[in-house]
Amino acid sequence: MSDASLREEIVLFGKSLFDRGLTMGSSGNISVRTDEGWLMTPTNACLGRLDPARISRLDQDGRHLDGDKPTKESFLHMAVYAERPKDQAIVHLHSTHSVAVSCLPDIDPCNCIPPLTAYYVMRVGRLPLVPYHVPGDMALGDAVRGLAGKHSAVLLANHGPVVAAKSLEAAVYATEELEETAKLYLLLHGKNPRCLSEEQIEVLNARFPKG
Ligand SMILES: [Zn+2]
Repeated sequence: MSDASLREEIVLFGKSLFDRGLTMGSSGNISVRTDEGWLMTPTNACLGRLDPARISRLDQDGRHLDGDKPTKESFLHMAVYAERPKDQAIVHLHSTHSVAVSCLPDIDPCNCIPPLTAYYVMRVGRLPLVPYHVPGDMALGDAVRGLAGKHSAVLLANHGPVVAAKSLEAAVYATEELEETAKLYLLLHGKNPRCLSEEQIEVLNARFPKG
């Protein structure tokens, strides 16, 4: 996909996420891998009103080339890309239901949301919790890097999800699946829901490998 097409895709998905309340204010950020490096949403930009010409362009080493300055959370994206060389895009949101789950005291830090539905298992799988860090703390990058090799999605405690995938479309769909499943989990919290069994999950993983 050309640089111009990728910029248009970032703008379209950013507006779609914003218009549906999945991100608000200037929170949330998106990045895609290109032949030369990365395109990334700028710092303090509202995902609902992105200008394709002002999207940040970074080189292979993550250095800012042109466009506005990249998001202050660019180090999160770079930490995940370093561990996931096949993934092409990352979405990070402060989406309400996912953040709510990340604040619960009794979630399993190895897997924050149980396997409630087949599509959640197929698009997200196991979701580890990354301990809370002050925004901008580079130690958060190290903590994310330690989990990203084995997990395409992680949940930052009291902060929000970071989701990587083979394309921006797939990363957005996985982020949406995560947010909707977080909503389901909150609806069902304390009700002892019937989850998918290990056998049912194995069947899904065999039939729909995430690659
Ligand atoms: Zn954030």
